[in-house]
Amino acid sequence: MSIPIEAVCESRSMVTSRQVDPAIARSLASAVPVPFWLDQPGAPEPVPALAGPVTADLAIIGGGFTGLWTALLASERYPGLDVVLLEAKTAGWAASGRNGGFCSASLTHGIGNGLDRFPDELPLLERLGAQNLREIGETVAKHSIDCDFQPTGELALATEPWQLDGLDEEAVTARRLGHDVQVLDGPAGARAELASPRWVGGLKYTTGNALVEPGRLAWGLRRACLDAGVRIFEHTPVTSMSGDEAGAGMLLRTPYGSVRAARVALAAGVPGGSLLRRIGQYVVPVWDYVLMTEPLSAARLDSLGWRDRRGASDLGNQFHYFRLTRDNRVLWGGYDAVYYNGGRIRPEHEARPATFAKLAAHFFATFPQLEGVSFTHAWGGVIDTCSRFCAFFGTAHAGRVAYAAGYTGLGVGASRFAAQVLLDKLQDEDSERRRLSLVTTKPVPFPPEPLRSGVIQATRASIARADRNAGRRDLWLRTLDRLGLGFDS
Ligand SMILES: Cc1cc2nc3c(=O)[nH]c(=O)nc-3n(C[C@H](O)[C@H](O)[C@H](O)COP(=O)(O)OP(=O)(O)OC[C@H]3O[C@@H](n4cnc5c(N)ncnc54)[C@H](O)[C@@H]3O)c2cc1C
Repeated sequence: MSIPIEAVCESRSMVTSRQVDPAIARSLASAVPVPFWLDQPGAPEPVPALAGPVTADLAIIGGGFTGLWTALLASERYPGLDVVLLEAKTAGWAASGRNGGFCSASLTHGIGNGLDRFPDELPLLERLGAQNLREIGETVAKHSIDCDFQPTGELALATEPWQLDGLDEEAVTARRLGHDVQVLDGPAGARAELASPRWVGGLKYTTGNALVEPGRLAWGLRRACLDAGVRIFEHTPVTSMSGDEAGAGMLLRTPYGSVRAARVALAAGVPGGSLLRRIGQYVVPVWDYVLMTEPLSAARLDSLGWRDRRGASDLGNQFHYFRLTRDNRVLWGGYDAVYYNGGRIRPEHEARPATFAKLAAHFFATFPQLEGVSFTHAWGGVIDTCSRFCAFFGTAHAGRVAYAAGYTGLGVGASRFAAQVLLDKLQDEDSERRRLSLVTTKPVPFPPEPLRSGVIQATRASIARADRNAGRRDLWLRTLDRLGLGFDS
C-alpha cells in the first residue's frame, strides 16, 4: 500500500524533488508518504461501521487520544456506563497516530506560554500535568501497552546566540515549579548531549516529558477500551448532531445508523467545527510535516553521542523537534507550519515535497555526520491550532455535549487531562480541574475567512522574519502579542 513520494508528487502535480539538491532528493527518493507509526506490524483490523440505531449513556465522537482517553476513563470512573465511540476512519489515524510522540506533562504548551497566560494558576497546572503524565505511564503499564513509553525528559537546544536569552530565568522558574533542569554549558555542554555543530547552548530537562510510539499508544488504548466494554464503530463519520425529540438527550446520525445518547463528548479536533459551529472560530488546521530516517548503524548512532536518548527541539520561533525510535531511527519534524488558505483539510496535503526537502536539508546541516542516510517515511498531519496554544473546553445543548480542542502541537499528554475535564462536565462533577481558568476561558477567536488566511499568512511571514533577525519581533507580532493572539504549530 506504500507509494514512493515521487509517484505521489507526480500524480498530484506538486513541486517535485527535481528542483532540489540531488543529495537531498536521493535521501528522500524511497520515502513513503505514510506515517511511520501507523506503518507497523500489529495494526488492528478495523471494527465494523455502525449499522442501524443504537442507544448509549455516553457517545464519543472521534477516536484520537481525546476520544480514546474519554472512553477509557469513563469506563474506569463510572463502571456500568454504556459508552459508544464513533470514529470517521480508524482509531488513531489522524494527529494522534502521526505526531512526534513527545508526551509532555505541560498542559499549557510549555512553561513560558503558561506563565504568559495563566500566571497565578501555573503551579497548580504544572502539578496536575505531572500527575497526568504519571497516570499515563501507569495506564500504559496496567494495560501492557507496548508503546515504548520512556520518561526521558527533553533537551531545548539553541542554534543562535539570541535564543540563549532568558534560558537562565526559565531554568529558575522551572525549578520553582518542581522540574529538574540544567542550563547546558555553552556549545560544548549542548554538544555533549547530542552532537551537532549548530548548538550554542540549551537546557536539559530530566522531568516533564516522556517519549512514546503514538500509533501503538492509540492502538493500545483502543484495545483497552474494547476490553472495558466500550462499543467502537470505525469508518463511521457522524454527519449531524442534534437534540433528540424528547429534549432529554442527543441524536447523532451516521451514514448507516444513528445513536441516541444522554451525553456526547465531541473529541473530533478541527473537523468538530462542522458539528458544532462555535468550535470553528477558535481552531485552524495547521499542517506539520515529519521525516523518519532508516535505522542508524551503530557507528552513525555513536556519532550522535545521544546517550540519554532525550527527545529534543531547537529554540527558533520556527522550530524542529527530533528524537530516536526504539530501532534507532531519527524522527525529524516541524519548522514549516503550513496553513492552506481557506482552511480546508485535504488528503493531498499529507505530502508536501517542498517542505520535505527543506526539512531534509536542515537535518543534514544539523547532523553532517549522517550524510548518506535515507528517509523511509515522510508525512504530514493536521494540528488543531488555537490562538493561545493550549486546549479550550466548552459545553453545548444545555450541557449534554462537551468538547475539547486546540492543543496546538502538544496534545499527546494533555488529551488525557482534557478527557477528565470532559467527563467532569458531562457528569456535572465538581473538581479543581473544572474551576481552572484554563478550563473556564476561551482563546481569542480567529477572524472569519478570507481575513483569517491573510492574518495567518502575514503572521507566518513575520515569524520567519523574526528568526532571521535575531528574534526581533516586528510591529505586527508585537501587536498580536499584546492582543493575546498567537500562531504556532
Ligand atoms: C505532525 C504532528 C506532530 C505532532 N507532534 C506532537 C508531539 O510530539 N507531542 C504532542 O503532544 N502533540 C503533538 N502533536 C499534536 C497531537 O498529535 C494532537 O494534539 C493530539 O493527537 C490530538 O488528539 P485528538 O484526539 O484531539 O485529535 P485527533 O487525533 O485528530 O483525533 C480526532 C479524531 O476525530 C475523528 N473525527 C473527526 N470528525 C469526525 C466525525 N464527524 N465523526 C467521527 N469521527 C470524527 C477523526 O477521524 C480523528 O480520528 C502533533 C501533531 C501532528 C499533526
